Amino acid sequence: MATVKRDYYEVLGVSRDCTPEQLKVAYRKLAMQYHPDRNNGDKGAEEQFKEVGEAYSVLSDPQKRQRYDAFGHVDGAQPDFGNFSFDSAFDLFDMFFGGGGRRRAHTGPQRGDDLRMNIEITFEEAVFGAKRTVEVPRATLCTECNGSGAKPGTSATKCATCSGSGQVRRTMQSIFGQVASVTPCPTCHGEGQVIQEPCTVCRGQGRIQGRHTVEVTIPAGVDDDVTLRLTGEGEPGPRGGPAGDLYLGFRVKPHPNLVRRGQDLLYELPISVTQAVLGDTIAITTVDGEHPVEVAPGTQPGRQIKMHGLGVPHVRTGRRGDLICVVRVVVPSHLSHQDRALYEQLGGREGKPAEVKKGFFDSLRDAFRG
Ligand SMILES: [Zn+2]
Ligand SMILES: [Zn+2]
Repeated sequence: MATVKRDYYEVLGVSRDCTPEQLKVAYRKLAMQYHPDRNNGDKGAEEQFKEVGEAYSVLSDPQKRQRYDAFGHVDGAQPDFGNFSFDSAFDLFDMFFGGGGRRRAHTGPQRGDDLRMNIEITFEEAVFGAKRTVEVPRATLCTECNGSGAKPGTSATKCATCSGSGQVRRTMQSIFGQVASVTPCPTCHGEGQVIQEPCTVCRGQGRIQGRHTVEVTIPAGVDDDVTLRLTGEGEPGPRGGPAGDLYLGFRVKPHPNLVRRGQDLLYELPISVTQAVLGDTIAITTVDGEHPVEVAPGTQPGRQIKMHGLGVPHVRTGRRGDLICVVRVVVPSHLSHQDRALYEQLGGREGKPAEVKKGFFDSLRDAFRG
């Protein structure tokens, strides 16, 4: 399932110009509200706990916040905020509230890591959406040791420090009062067992790098700043845990004639002096195929002709923007004898500025206003 990543400010329910103090207050409230210990492991709350943590970790860092404001959910070309895992959300919570939030032992099934990658798509695919098969480099179970990490013929032995539980208990003061807190065993790093002879193929990891193909439906209207979350398409979880998510970004190839500006498309329309003076109906190639543009008699350079609904659909609402033709009048630099004679016949060379109804700066202003 593909979901578009929510805006971080929206996630925390704060305005774009909020102060660091307001940010803290918002995070504190939401992190407490969605903490899994208070929601009986509700999946929706867990996701929100993670989302809130991710949003706060980016917006509370002045540099990351600045980059986020400038680029939104960045693609690989920009500094990456990525791979904010569920564990990071707990770490952040612990840091914020001074420890004791919750630490997870690693012996049980664990959620796999999130992955982040970018794919290149054509301009048309970005406008209309597409189905693509994406090759994702990700870990697969090591077939040599069957994922155990131990050399075939040997097996991991139970850790003596924690008797195989992977965790040691201690009592801590937390925001929920005094709790017996479990922390990962320092000897086996929470694994519960110690591998004496690691598998040589995966070097004891139990997993090796592999490739995996994912069918992706790219929604219409994506751009370089949109990130799709593909639930469960990330790294497989250790010990049979759920897979992480795959975050997919896009690099949209430029179009030879069209430039995107939000939901609108800009098209530079070169016309001849005759077309500008007398008007014409000109067929242009848009993303929807050929379309006629009406150039009115007396069209000035820089004039913008709007074609409603031929722009880019909004990635969420599907509402399409406009195609805006910006007129450029091409003045001939080489004239045939015949053309030259015709222009001379027109006259108009009186040695003074041409008369215009509107001032030059008025029409310039019009052109920029769109
Ligand atoms: Zn192995
Ligand atoms: Zn141990």
